Amino acid sequence: MADKGKTEKDEADNRRRMVIDSIVEGRKMEAYSEHRTKEMHACWLCDQICYRKKPMKNIGARWICIDCLRLLKETFDTLDQWEEELALQKEARSQLDDGFGV
Ligand SMILES: [Zn+2]
Repeated sequence: MADKGKTEKDEADNRRRMVIDSIVEGRKMEAYSEHRTKEMHACWLCDQICYRKKPMKNIGARWICIDCLRLLKETFDTLDQWEEELALQKEARSQLDDGFGV
């Protein structure tokens, strides 16, 4: 029974060390997530959360990832073609309307 006191003391020491360790770990995680949050941006279009590894552009108060920017560029590049198609569709529709005497 002489060892019991020592064991209890050891256990108390262990517990204290574990508590201190977990506090230290918690602080580290806090500092880390704060640091990460600064680098973290959510894409305005696809809602993807991106860190530094994915290129993103800051446009006004928003962030847009490279994938969405490429899509946007493609849309802009084909905008003229799209406008032409829309104009043709409109023309075809008005011709149809004329044909039906509307
Ligand atoms: Zn995106």
